Amino acid sequence: MEFGIQTIKELLSGYQKKQFKPSEVIGAYLTNISERDEKINSFLQVRIEESLGRAKRLDEKMCEAETLPLFGIPIAIKDNFLVSGWQATAGSKILSGYVSPYTATSVERLEAMGAIVIGKVNCDEFAMGSSNENSAFGNVRNPWDLERVPGGSSGGSAAAVAAGFASVSLGTDTGGSIRQPASLCGLVGLKPSYGRVSRYGVISYASSLDQVGPFSRTVWDSARVLEVMAGFDDRDATSSKRSVPKYTEELKNISEKKFTLGVSRKWLEGVDPDVAKSFEAGLEMFKKAGGKIIEIDLPHARYALSTYYLLATSEASSNLARYDGVHYGYRTQSATTSEELYSRSRGEGFGREVKLRIMLGTYALSAGYYDAFYLKANQVRKKIQEDFEKAFTQCDFVVAPTSPSTAFKLGEKTDDPLKMYLSDIFTLPVNLAGLPGLSIPCGLDSKNLPIGFQLIGKPFGESVLFEAAQQFEALRGEFPLPGFLEGACRR
Ligand code: GLN
Repeated sequence: MEFGIQTIKELLSGYQKKQFKPSEVIGAYLTNISERDEKINSFLQVRIEESLGRAKRLDEKMCEAETLPLFGIPIAIKDNFLVSGWQATAGSKILSGYVSPYTATSVERLEAMGAIVIGKVNCDEFAMGSSNENSAFGNVRNPWDLERVPGGSSGGSAAAVAAGFASVSLGTDTGGSIRQPASLCGLVGLKPSYGRVSRYGVISYASSLDQVGPFSRTVWDSARVLEVMAGFDDRDATSSKRSVPKYTEELKNISEKKFTLGVSRKWLEGVDPDVAKSFEAGLEMFKKAGGKIIEIDLPHARYALSTYYLLATSEASSNLARYDGVHYGYRTQSATTSEELYSRSRGEGFGREVKLRIMLGTYALSAGYYDAFYLKANQVRKKIQEDFEKAFTQCDFVVAPTSPSTAFKLGEKTDDPLKMYLSDIFTLPVNLAGLPGLSIPCGLDSKNLPIGFQLIGKPFGESVLFEAAQQFEALRGEFPLPGFLEGACRR
Protein backbone atom coordinates (compact mmCIF):
# COMPACT_ATOMS: atom_id res chain seq x y z
CA MET A 1 0.00 0.00 0.00
CA GLU A 2 1.35 3.38 -1.00
CA PHE A 3 0.13 6.70 0.35
CA GLY A 4 -0.31 10.03 -1.36
CA ILE A 5 -3.18 9.59 -3.74
CA GLN A 6 -5.87 8.14 -1.49
CA THR A 7 -9.28 9.67 -1.37
CA ILE A 8 -11.16 10.22 1.88
CA LYS A 9 -13.35 7.27 1.03
CA GLU A 10 -10.35 4.96 0.54
CA LEU A 11 -8.63 6.09 3.73
CA LEU A 12 -11.81 5.65 5.77
CA SER A 13 -12.35 2.17 4.41
CA GLY A 14 -8.73 1.19 5.17
CA TYR A 15 -9.08 2.52 8.73
CA GLN A 16 -12.33 0.65 9.21
CA LYS A 17 -10.73 -2.59 8.07
CA LYS A 18 -7.70 -1.83 10.27
CA GLN A 19 -5.37 -2.06 7.27
CA PHE A 20 -3.38 0.90 8.56
CA LYS A 21 -3.45 3.51 11.29
CA PRO A 22 -3.66 7.30 11.21
CA SER A 23 -0.06 7.71 12.40
CA GLU A 24 1.20 5.62 9.45
CA VAL A 25 -0.86 7.59 6.98
CA ILE A 26 0.00 11.00 8.38
CA GLY A 27 3.66 9.99 8.69
CA ALA A 28 3.74 8.97 5.03
CA TYR A 29 2.15 12.24 3.87
CA LEU A 30 4.57 14.25 6.01
CA THR A 31 7.49 12.34 4.47
CA ASN A 32 6.16 13.07 1.02
CA ILE A 33 6.08 16.77 1.88
CA SER A 34 9.53 16.90 3.41
CA GLU A 35 11.14 15.00 0.54
CA ARG A 36 9.28 16.41 -2.41
CA ASP A 37 7.69 19.79 -1.73
CA GLU A 38 10.98 21.51 -2.46
CA LYS A 39 10.04 21.14 -6.14
CA ILE A 40 6.47 22.45 -5.71
CA ASN A 41 6.69 25.05 -2.88
CA SER A 42 3.12 24.44 -1.77
CA PHE A 43 3.53 24.41 2.03
CA LEU A 44 4.33 27.54 4.03
CA GLN A 45 4.11 25.71 7.38
CA VAL A 46 3.97 21.99 8.13
CA ARG A 47 2.50 20.87 11.47
CA ILE A 48 4.73 17.84 12.06
CA GLU A 49 4.57 17.35 15.83
CA GLU A 50 1.00 18.42 16.24
CA SER A 51 -0.40 16.32 13.43
CA LEU A 52 1.56 13.22 14.42
CA GLY A 53 0.39 13.72 17.99
CA ARG A 54 -3.23 13.92 16.87
CA ALA A 55 -2.76 10.89 14.63
CA LYS A 56 -1.34 8.84 17.49
CA ARG A 57 -4.30 9.73 19.66
CA LEU A 58 -6.59 8.49 16.90
CA ASP A 59 -4.54 5.25 16.65
CA GLU A 60 -5.87 4.44 20.11
CA LYS A 61 -9.47 4.93 19.02
CA MET A 62 -9.69 3.03 15.76
CA CYS A 63 -13.35 2.24 16.34
CA GLU A 64 -14.12 5.93 15.75
CA ALA A 65 -13.27 5.38 12.09
CA GLU A 66 -16.83 4.06 11.86
CA THR A 67 -18.41 7.22 13.23
CA LEU A 68 -16.14 10.20 12.55
CA PRO A 69 -16.71 11.32 8.96
CA LEU A 70 -13.13 12.58 8.52
CA PHE A 71 -11.27 10.19 10.82
CA GLY A 72 -7.50 10.57 10.25
CA ILE A 73 -7.82 12.47 6.97
CA PRO A 74 -4.77 14.63 6.15
CA ILE A 75 -5.88 18.06 5.01
CA ALA A 76 -3.98 21.18 3.92
CA ILE A 77 -5.40 24.66 4.57
CA LYS A 78 -4.86 27.79 2.48
CA ASP A 79 -2.87 30.33 4.45
CA ASN A 80 -5.71 32.84 4.60
CA PHE A 81 -7.56 30.69 7.18
CA LEU A 82 -6.84 31.25 10.85
CA VAL A 83 -5.75 28.28 12.94
CA SER A 84 -5.23 29.11 16.61
CA GLY A 85 -1.58 29.43 17.57
CA TRP A 86 -0.44 29.26 13.95
CA GLN A 87 0.84 32.01 11.72
CA ALA A 88 -1.46 33.24 8.99
CA THR A 89 0.18 35.16 6.18
CA ALA A 90 -2.44 35.26 3.40
CA GLY A 91 0.63 35.14 1.15
CA SER A 92 1.62 38.64 2.28
CA LYS A 93 4.65 40.15 3.93
CA ILE A 94 2.38 42.59 5.75
CA LEU A 95 1.18 39.84 8.10
CA SER A 96 4.67 38.67 9.01
CA GLY A 97 4.80 37.52 12.58
CA TYR A 98 1.01 37.48 12.98
CA VAL A 99 -0.22 34.50 14.99
CA SER A 100 -3.91 33.63 14.89
CA PRO A 101 -5.70 33.92 18.22
CA TYR A 102 -8.56 31.62 17.16
CA THR A 103 -9.53 29.04 14.54
CA ALA A 104 -11.79 29.49 11.50
CA THR A 105 -15.19 27.83 11.92
CA SER A 106 -14.72 25.68 8.79
CA VAL A 107 -11.39 24.32 10.05
CA GLU A 108 -12.74 23.83 13.56
CA ARG A 109 -15.62 21.73 12.20
CA LEU A 110 -13.31 19.55 10.09
CA GLU A 111 -10.97 18.94 13.03
CA ALA A 112 -13.87 18.09 15.32
CA MET A 113 -14.84 15.32 12.90
CA GLY A 114 -11.38 13.75 12.85
CA ALA A 115 -9.52 15.62 10.10
CA ILE A 116 -5.84 16.33 10.71
CA VAL A 117 -4.56 19.67 9.49
CA ILE A 118 -1.04 18.87 8.36
CA GLY A 119 -0.10 22.38 7.32
CA LYS A 120 -0.87 25.68 5.67
CA VAL A 121 -0.33 26.27 2.00
CA ASN A 122 0.82 29.03 -0.29
CA CYS A 123 -1.54 31.40 -2.13
CA ASP A 124 -1.64 34.67 -3.98
CA GLU A 125 -1.35 37.66 -1.64
CA PHE A 126 -4.77 38.22 -0.04
CA ALA A 127 -6.17 35.77 -2.60
CA MET A 128 -5.63 38.25 -5.44
CA GLY A 129 -4.41 36.43 -8.52
CA SER A 130 -4.88 33.51 -10.88
CA SER A 131 -1.43 31.92 -10.90
CA ASN A 132 -0.03 32.06 -7.37
CA GLU A 133 2.68 34.38 -8.71
CA ASN A 134 1.54 37.19 -6.40
CA SER A 135 2.65 35.40 -3.23
CA ALA A 136 5.33 36.99 -1.07
CA PHE A 137 6.61 33.44 -0.54
CA GLY A 138 7.46 32.43 -4.06
CA ASN A 139 5.76 30.67 -6.91
CA VAL A 140 4.04 27.32 -6.65
CA ARG A 141 4.73 24.85 -9.44
CA ASN A 142 2.13 22.68 -11.11
CA PRO A 143 2.74 18.95 -10.48
CA TRP A 144 1.62 18.25 -14.07
CA ASP A 145 4.45 20.38 -15.45
CA LEU A 146 6.90 22.10 -13.14
CA GLU A 147 7.44 24.97 -15.58
CA ARG A 148 3.78 25.93 -15.32
CA VAL A 149 1.54 27.66 -12.77
CA PRO A 150 -0.95 25.70 -10.65
CA GLY A 151 -3.53 28.47 -11.05
CA GLY A 152 -4.61 30.78 -8.27
CA SER A 153 -5.24 32.19 -5.91
CA SER A 154 -5.48 28.85 -4.04
CA GLY A 155 -2.49 27.50 -6.00
CA GLY A 156 -0.87 25.81 -2.99
CA SER A 157 -4.13 24.07 -2.06
CA ALA A 158 -4.47 22.62 -5.56
CA ALA A 159 -0.82 21.68 -6.01
CA ALA A 160 -0.62 20.01 -2.57
CA VAL A 161 -3.44 17.59 -3.35
CA ALA A 162 -2.29 16.99 -6.93
CA ALA A 163 1.25 16.26 -5.70
CA GLY A 164 0.11 13.73 -3.10
CA PHE A 165 0.88 15.87 -0.03
CA ALA A 166 -2.68 15.88 1.34
CA SER A 167 -5.83 13.93 0.68
CA VAL A 168 -7.95 17.08 0.40
CA SER A 169 -7.45 20.80 1.00
CA LEU A 170 -9.38 23.99 1.63
CA GLY A 171 -9.27 27.11 -0.46
CA THR A 172 -11.29 30.26 -0.92
CA ASP A 173 -13.04 31.38 -4.08
CA THR A 174 -13.91 35.04 -4.65
CA GLY A 175 -13.84 34.99 -8.43
CA GLY A 176 -12.61 31.52 -9.32
CA SER A 177 -9.78 30.78 -6.92
CA ILE A 178 -10.88 27.22 -6.18
CA ARG A 179 -12.34 26.17 -9.52
CA GLN A 180 -9.59 27.56 -11.76
CA PRO A 181 -6.63 25.96 -9.90
CA ALA A 182 -8.63 22.73 -9.56
CA SER A 183 -9.07 22.77 -13.32
CA LEU A 184 -5.36 23.46 -13.95
CA CYS A 185 -4.27 20.70 -11.54
CA GLY A 186 -6.76 17.98 -12.53
CA LEU A 187 -8.90 18.04 -9.36
CA VAL A 188 -12.49 18.53 -8.29
CA GLY A 189 -12.94 22.06 -6.93
CA LEU A 190 -16.13 23.36 -5.39
CA LYS A 191 -17.26 26.89 -4.68
CA PRO A 192 -20.41 26.51 -2.58
CA SER A 193 -23.32 28.97 -2.70
CA TYR A 194 -22.62 32.27 -0.98
CA GLY A 195 -23.53 31.78 2.68
CA ARG A 196 -23.25 27.97 2.64
CA VAL A 197 -19.97 27.90 4.61
CA SER A 198 -19.03 30.28 7.40
CA ARG A 199 -16.34 32.81 6.55
CA TYR A 200 -15.51 33.35 10.22
CA GLY A 201 -11.75 33.19 10.65
CA VAL A 202 -11.00 33.58 6.95
CA ILE A 203 -8.98 36.65 6.02
CA SER A 204 -11.33 38.81 3.97
CA TYR A 205 -10.68 39.85 0.41
CA ALA A 206 -14.11 40.85 -0.96
CA SER A 207 -16.68 39.90 1.65
CA SER A 208 -19.74 39.81 -0.60
CA LEU A 209 -18.04 37.30 -2.92
CA ASP A 210 -15.68 35.19 -0.75
CA GLN A 211 -16.60 31.54 -0.14
CA VAL A 212 -14.75 28.59 1.40
CA GLY A 213 -14.58 25.27 -0.44
CA PRO A 214 -12.68 22.00 -0.88
CA PHE A 215 -10.21 20.55 -3.40
CA SER A 216 -10.43 16.78 -3.79
CA ARG A 217 -9.86 13.95 -6.22
CA THR A 218 -13.48 12.86 -6.31
CA VAL A 219 -16.98 14.29 -6.13
CA TRP A 220 -17.82 12.13 -3.10
CA ASP A 221 -14.86 13.60 -1.18
CA SER A 222 -15.97 17.11 -2.04
CA ALA A 223 -19.46 16.31 -0.73
CA ARG A 224 -18.02 14.82 2.46
CA VAL A 225 -15.95 17.92 3.26
CA LEU A 226 -18.85 20.24 2.50
CA GLU A 227 -21.37 18.36 4.64
CA VAL A 228 -19.02 18.56 7.61
CA MET A 229 -18.18 22.25 7.40
CA ALA A 230 -21.33 23.85 5.95
CA GLY A 231 -24.13 25.38 7.96
CA PHE A 232 -25.09 28.36 10.02
CA ASP A 233 -22.53 29.99 12.29
CA ASP A 234 -23.61 32.80 14.58
CA ARG A 235 -20.19 34.36 14.14
CA ASP A 236 -20.83 34.98 10.44
CA ALA A 237 -24.03 36.95 9.84
CA THR A 238 -23.96 36.07 6.13
CA SER A 239 -23.96 32.31 6.77
CA SER A 240 -27.25 30.67 5.85
CA LYS A 241 -29.67 29.06 8.27
CA ARG A 242 -30.78 26.48 5.71
CA SER A 243 -30.23 22.95 6.89
CA VAL A 244 -27.30 21.03 5.40
CA PRO A 245 -28.24 17.87 3.50
CA LYS A 246 -26.26 14.66 4.02
CA TYR A 247 -24.69 15.05 0.61
CA THR A 248 -22.77 11.76 0.67
CA GLU A 249 -25.93 9.80 1.57
CA GLU A 250 -27.48 11.26 -1.55
CA LEU A 251 -24.54 10.03 -3.60
CA LYS A 252 -24.88 6.34 -2.67
CA ASN A 253 -25.92 5.40 -6.18
CA ILE A 254 -24.86 6.91 -9.47
CA SER A 255 -27.80 8.99 -10.62
CA GLU A 256 -29.74 8.01 -13.70
CA LYS A 257 -31.43 11.38 -13.98
CA LYS A 258 -31.49 13.04 -17.35
CA PHE A 259 -30.25 16.55 -16.81
CA THR A 260 -30.87 19.57 -18.99
CA LEU A 261 -27.73 21.63 -19.41
CA GLY A 262 -27.69 25.23 -20.56
CA VAL A 263 -24.85 26.46 -22.75
CA SER A 264 -24.30 30.01 -23.95
CA ARG A 265 -22.22 29.68 -27.11
CA LYS A 266 -21.69 33.41 -27.26
CA TRP A 267 -20.07 33.39 -23.84
CA LEU A 268 -17.70 30.63 -24.88
CA GLU A 269 -16.17 32.36 -27.87
CA GLY A 270 -12.39 32.54 -27.85
CA VAL A 271 -11.55 29.53 -25.70
CA ASP A 272 -8.48 27.50 -26.50
CA PRO A 273 -9.33 24.85 -29.16
CA ASP A 274 -8.21 21.90 -26.99
CA VAL A 275 -10.39 23.16 -24.14
CA ALA A 276 -13.35 23.63 -26.50
CA LYS A 277 -12.95 20.11 -27.82
CA SER A 278 -12.81 18.56 -24.40
CA PHE A 279 -15.80 20.62 -23.25
CA GLU A 280 -17.84 19.35 -26.22
CA ALA A 281 -16.82 15.80 -25.33
CA GLY A 282 -18.09 16.47 -21.81
CA LEU A 283 -21.45 17.58 -23.18
CA GLU A 284 -21.60 14.40 -25.23
CA MET A 285 -21.12 12.36 -22.08
CA PHE A 286 -24.15 13.94 -20.45
CA LYS A 287 -26.10 13.30 -23.63
CA LYS A 288 -25.10 9.64 -23.49
CA ALA A 289 -26.73 9.52 -20.06
CA GLY A 290 -29.93 10.85 -21.64
CA GLY A 291 -29.25 14.51 -20.86
CA LYS A 292 -30.27 17.41 -23.05
CA ILE A 293 -28.22 20.43 -24.10
CA ILE A 294 -30.04 23.69 -24.72
CA GLU A 295 -28.85 27.10 -25.81
CA ILE A 296 -29.29 29.83 -23.19
CA ASP A 297 -28.50 33.51 -23.19
CA LEU A 298 -26.36 35.25 -20.58
CA PRO A 299 -26.39 38.73 -22.13
CA HIS A 300 -24.61 40.42 -19.23
CA ALA A 301 -21.88 37.82 -18.70
CA ARG A 302 -19.53 39.86 -20.85
CA TYR A 303 -19.61 42.65 -18.24
CA ALA A 304 -18.68 40.29 -15.41
CA LEU A 305 -14.97 40.99 -15.57
CA SER A 306 -15.29 44.77 -15.23
CA THR A 307 -18.06 44.43 -12.66
CA TYR A 308 -15.99 42.04 -10.58
CA TYR A 309 -12.88 44.22 -10.71
CA LEU A 310 -14.84 47.24 -9.50
CA LEU A 311 -16.68 45.46 -6.69
CA ALA A 312 -13.86 43.20 -5.51
CA THR A 313 -11.31 46.02 -5.45
CA SER A 314 -13.75 48.35 -3.67
CA GLU A 315 -14.39 45.80 -0.95
CA ALA A 316 -10.70 44.96 -0.75
CA SER A 317 -9.72 48.61 -0.31
CA SER A 318 -11.96 48.71 2.73
CA ASN A 319 -11.04 45.27 4.12
CA LEU A 320 -7.32 45.89 3.78
CA ALA A 321 -7.42 49.26 5.54
CA ARG A 322 -6.84 47.41 8.82
CA TYR A 323 -3.23 46.54 7.88
CA ASP A 324 -1.73 49.78 9.08
CA GLY A 325 1.54 48.73 10.68
CA VAL A 326 -0.03 49.20 14.12
CA HIS A 327 -2.59 46.44 14.64
CA TYR A 328 -1.03 43.53 12.79
CA GLY A 329 2.23 42.10 11.51
CA TYR A 330 4.75 44.13 9.58
CA ARG A 331 5.88 47.58 10.73
CA THR A 332 8.38 49.79 8.91
CA GLN A 333 11.68 50.53 10.62
CA SER A 334 12.06 53.99 9.15
CA ALA A 335 9.11 56.12 10.29
CA THR A 336 9.39 59.26 12.38
CA THR A 337 5.74 60.40 12.26
CA SER A 338 2.56 58.36 12.51
CA GLU A 339 1.64 59.21 8.93
CA GLU A 340 4.97 57.85 7.78
CA LEU A 341 4.39 54.75 9.90
CA TYR A 342 1.12 54.01 8.11
CA SER A 343 2.21 54.79 4.60
CA ARG A 344 5.62 53.15 4.78
CA SER A 345 4.36 50.02 6.55
CA ARG A 346 1.72 49.61 3.86
CA GLY A 347 4.09 50.62 1.06
CA GLU A 348 6.72 48.10 2.14
CA GLY A 349 4.37 45.37 3.35
CA PHE A 350 1.96 45.02 0.43
CA GLY A 351 2.94 43.61 -2.94
CA ARG A 352 2.40 45.27 -6.31
CA GLU A 353 -0.92 43.67 -7.28
CA VAL A 354 -2.47 44.34 -3.88
CA LYS A 355 -1.45 47.99 -4.04
CA LEU A 356 -2.84 48.26 -7.55
CA ARG A 357 -6.18 46.90 -6.37
CA ILE A 358 -6.35 49.07 -3.26
CA MET A 359 -5.82 52.11 -5.47
CA LEU A 360 -8.44 50.96 -7.97
CA GLY A 361 -10.95 50.27 -5.22
CA THR A 362 -10.32 53.51 -3.39
CA TYR A 363 -10.79 55.39 -6.64
CA ALA A 364 -14.03 53.57 -7.46
CA LEU A 365 -15.42 54.41 -4.01
CA SER A 366 -14.34 58.04 -3.94
CA ALA A 367 -17.09 60.65 -3.69
CA GLY A 368 -17.14 61.89 -7.27
CA TYR A 369 -17.01 58.43 -8.84
CA TYR A 370 -19.14 56.30 -6.55
CA ASP A 371 -22.28 56.47 -8.69
CA ALA A 372 -20.45 55.93 -11.94
CA PHE A 373 -18.45 52.93 -10.77
CA TYR A 374 -19.45 51.18 -7.55
CA LEU A 375 -23.17 51.81 -7.85
CA LYS A 376 -23.24 50.96 -11.54
CA ALA A 377 -21.28 47.77 -10.95
CA ASN A 378 -23.84 46.71 -8.35
CA GLN A 379 -26.63 47.27 -10.86
CA VAL A 380 -24.85 45.13 -13.43
CA ARG A 381 -24.30 42.46 -10.78
CA LYS A 382 -28.07 42.29 -10.37
CA LYS A 383 -28.47 41.89 -14.13
CA ILE A 384 -26.02 39.01 -14.14
CA GLN A 385 -27.98 37.34 -11.33
CA GLU A 386 -31.18 37.79 -13.34
CA ASP A 387 -29.57 36.23 -16.43
CA PHE A 388 -28.88 33.09 -14.42
CA GLU A 389 -32.34 33.09 -12.83
CA LYS A 390 -33.85 33.18 -16.27
CA ALA A 391 -31.56 30.44 -17.56
CA PHE A 392 -32.54 28.22 -14.64
CA THR A 393 -36.18 28.34 -15.68
CA GLN A 394 -35.08 26.29 -18.71
CA CYS A 395 -32.21 24.12 -17.46
CA ASP A 396 -30.87 22.31 -14.39
CA PHE A 397 -27.33 23.64 -14.80
CA VAL A 398 -25.39 26.16 -16.73
CA VAL A 399 -22.18 24.63 -18.01
CA ALA A 400 -18.94 26.08 -19.36
CA PRO A 401 -15.27 25.27 -19.36
CA THR A 402 -13.78 26.28 -16.00
CA SER A 403 -10.89 28.16 -17.54
CA PRO A 404 -10.37 29.31 -21.15
CA SER A 405 -6.92 27.68 -21.23
CA THR A 406 -4.91 25.00 -19.45
CA ALA A 407 -1.97 25.74 -17.12
CA PHE A 408 0.23 28.49 -18.57
CA LYS A 409 3.96 28.94 -18.14
CA LEU A 410 5.36 30.70 -15.08
CA GLY A 411 5.85 34.37 -16.00
CA GLU A 412 3.74 34.10 -19.14
CA LYS A 413 1.03 36.52 -18.00
CA THR A 414 2.67 38.50 -15.21
CA ASP A 415 3.30 41.58 -17.35
CA ASP A 416 -0.26 41.86 -18.55
CA PRO A 417 -2.85 42.06 -15.75
CA LEU A 418 -5.78 42.02 -18.18
CA LYS A 419 -4.59 38.77 -19.75
CA MET A 420 -4.27 37.31 -16.27
CA TYR A 421 -7.74 38.56 -15.28
CA LEU A 422 -9.23 36.89 -18.35
CA SER A 423 -8.33 33.49 -16.84
CA ASP A 424 -11.47 33.90 -14.76
CA ILE A 425 -14.08 34.87 -17.32
CA PHE A 426 -16.08 31.68 -16.77
CA THR A 427 -15.86 31.68 -12.99
CA LEU A 428 -16.40 35.34 -12.00
CA PRO A 429 -20.12 35.57 -12.91
CA VAL A 430 -20.83 32.64 -10.57
CA ASN A 431 -19.50 34.56 -7.56
CA LEU A 432 -21.33 37.72 -8.62
CA ALA A 433 -24.56 35.71 -8.66
CA GLY A 434 -23.76 33.85 -5.40
CA LEU A 435 -24.25 30.44 -7.06
CA PRO A 436 -22.53 27.12 -6.43
CA GLY A 437 -19.98 26.07 -9.05
CA LEU A 438 -17.99 22.88 -9.39
CA SER A 439 -15.05 22.11 -11.64
CA ILE A 440 -14.43 18.50 -12.58
CA PRO A 441 -11.54 17.18 -14.70
CA CYS A 442 -12.81 16.27 -18.17
CA GLY A 443 -9.73 15.61 -20.27
CA LEU A 444 -6.15 16.44 -21.18
CA ASP A 445 -4.91 18.84 -23.85
CA SER A 446 -2.24 18.09 -26.44
CA LYS A 447 0.46 18.94 -23.89
CA ASN A 448 -0.98 16.43 -21.43
CA LEU A 449 -2.37 19.14 -19.13
CA PRO A 450 -5.74 18.77 -17.39
CA ILE A 451 -8.91 20.55 -18.52
CA GLY A 452 -11.85 21.34 -16.23
CA PHE A 453 -15.60 21.19 -16.92
CA GLN A 454 -17.69 23.61 -14.85
CA LEU A 455 -21.21 22.92 -13.61
CA ILE A 456 -23.07 25.93 -12.22
CA GLY A 457 -26.11 25.25 -10.04
CA LYS A 458 -29.09 27.06 -8.59
CA PRO A 459 -28.65 28.82 -5.24
CA PHE A 460 -28.10 26.15 -2.56
CA GLY A 461 -28.39 23.49 -5.22
CA GLU A 462 -25.23 21.66 -4.12
CA SER A 463 -27.07 18.30 -3.81
CA VAL A 464 -28.00 18.10 -7.44
CA LEU A 465 -24.68 19.63 -8.47
CA PHE A 466 -22.88 16.72 -6.79
CA GLU A 467 -25.35 14.27 -8.27
CA ALA A 468 -24.68 15.44 -11.82
CA ALA A 469 -20.93 15.70 -11.23
CA GLN A 470 -20.86 12.13 -9.93
CA GLN A 471 -22.76 10.94 -12.99
CA PHE A 472 -20.17 12.70 -15.14
CA GLU A 473 -17.32 11.19 -13.11
CA ALA A 474 -18.69 7.67 -13.60
CA LEU A 475 -19.02 8.16 -17.35
CA ARG A 476 -15.57 9.67 -17.61
CA GLY A 477 -13.82 6.95 -15.61
CA GLU A 478 -10.57 7.15 -13.68
CA PHE A 479 -8.68 10.42 -14.34
CA PRO A 480 -4.92 10.16 -15.01
CA LEU A 481 -2.41 11.32 -12.40
CA PRO A 482 0.44 13.79 -12.93
CA GLY A 483 3.86 12.37 -13.72
CA PHE A 484 5.18 13.99 -10.53
CA LEU A 485 3.41 11.29 -8.51
CA GLU A 486 5.52 8.48 -9.91
CA GLY A 487 7.56 7.13 -7.07
CA ALA A 488 5.94 9.58 -4.68
CA CYS A 489 3.77 7.24 -2.70
CA ARG A 490 5.08 5.21 0.14
CA ARG A 491 4.07 3.22 3.08
N1 GLN B 1 -8.32 35.58 -9.89
C1 GLN B 1 -9.33 36.42 -9.33
C2 GLN B 1 -8.66 37.63 -8.71
O1 GLN B 1 -7.53 37.79 -8.94
C3 GLN B 1 -10.13 35.68 -8.31
C4 GLN B 1 -9.44 35.52 -7.01
C5 GLN B 1 -10.18 34.72 -6.00
O2 GLN B 1 -11.15 34.03 -6.31
N2 GLN B 1 -9.74 34.85 -4.77
O3 GLN B 1 -9.23 38.39 -8.03
